[in-house]
Amino acid sequence: DTGFCAEKLRSEFAILQQTYQEQPLIYLDNAATMQMPDAVKRRIVQHYERDNGNVHRGIHVLSTRTTEAYENARTLIAEQLGAKNREQLIFTAGTTDAINQVCSMTAPFLMPGDEIMVTQMEHHSNFLPWMQLAKQSQAKLVVIPVLEDGKLDLEQFYRKMSHRTKIAAFTQLSNVTGVKNPVEKMSSYIRNHTDALILVDGAQGIVHMGYGMPDCDFYCFSGHKLGALTGIGVLCMSERAQKICRPARFGGGTVYQVSETEMLLKDGAERFEAGTPNYAGAVSLAEACMFWKQYPGRAVREHETRLLTVLEQELCNIPSVRILAKGQEKTGCLSFVSSVAGAYDLCTHFNRYGLAVRSGHHCAQPYLNALGIQSAVRVSVAPYNTMAEIQRAAEIIRETITYFERILENGPHEHGRG
Ligand code: PMP
Repeated sequence: DTGFCAEKLRSEFAILQQTYQEQPLIYLDNAATMQMPDAVKRRIVQHYERDNGNVHRGIHVLSTRTTEAYENARTLIAEQLGAKNREQLIFTAGTTDAINQVCSMTAPFLMPGDEIMVTQMEHHSNFLPWMQLAKQSQAKLVVIPVLEDGKLDLEQFYRKMSHRTKIAAFTQLSNVTGVKNPVEKMSSYIRNHTDALILVDGAQGIVHMGYGMPDCDFYCFSGHKLGALTGIGVLCMSERAQKICRPARFGGGTVYQVSETEMLLKDGAERFEAGTPNYAGAVSLAEACMFWKQYPGRAVREHETRLLTVLEQELCNIPSVRILAKGQEKTGCLSFVSSVAGAYDLCTHFNRYGLAVRSGHHCAQPYLNALGIQSAVRVSVAPYNTMAEIQRAAEIIRETITYFERILENGPHEHGRG
């Protein structure tokens, strides 16, 4: 007994209690967004019923309460990440927003011929901003390829790292195959050989690998993948990065003093947070972090691993199925394709049985192309998913594929189901 019970945990999520088409709704699209614990919803309501006022802008009671809640959220999350200083933590609108801000902040450091290193397995949000930055600064985008098994080609990574590398950006965990990158090893290699700035995309990693932050200059993630509101995210900057980077945005709340020609930016996090911040979002994120902290991290991760291991075993028995990164250790999600039907058709069919999973390119086209496919079905788990749900999901997948096989064999007129 690990002291963790998924059945009990699920009772704290109203949305998971529903049926669809008279069957229990099986939500396995958690990599896209995680459902919100009832405690987080209650906290948001409490904020608006009791505390709401704009931050830092007044001395009245509501402004004070909101400011306190917002800054407490910063402290709590910074502590959970293991940041040295709470001022390193900046609230953003999400991972994509954070990465775009980092691109603006680092643009002044790039000269023509410099290199920006990314990997082939990145989400478009950690790929397109760098591509755009490279184009606009005449830098070179160096893309580290993946191997057939879905893992990063580390040899290429070591080989292509050089004194020209000014920025290296990579994900902790793939949102398609669930394959991890050896982030600590990669970072220490970069630190030992270059002075490149390192960005780690923690959008998936933060959810399934605990709250520790790897050594990097920019660590970012989105609140909605942890059960908080959308529109809130975190960018945690190293002290070095904070010292050398100008903010990406300017405006209210960022300065001590302004004249008609000069500005004196605030120290710490606030200089990077122009405009009214998403304080309700930050409050929801702190509440979500506290919610998840109640559960033993290791037991939760083991539970998720068991779910994916069983699913992989079940899917391995279906001849037409190809599991991406088959046999590799997977964290958070598993993707597959079938030779009898496309991912979109499969998922449309799954939905009729209450199975909510995702089809498509998962915003990782270079990765899918490297694996020789254009779209895949992704099953992604959260701590509240149960083994019974995984068994039922496997059954729905098996039956659906059999159904499409029959259509292929007999032609579309012979089938009686659907
Ligand atoms: N990176 C990864 C690895 C992701 O999984 C996602 C979300 N699918 C993102 C970046 C982008 O996150 P957001 O859309 O919340 O900005």
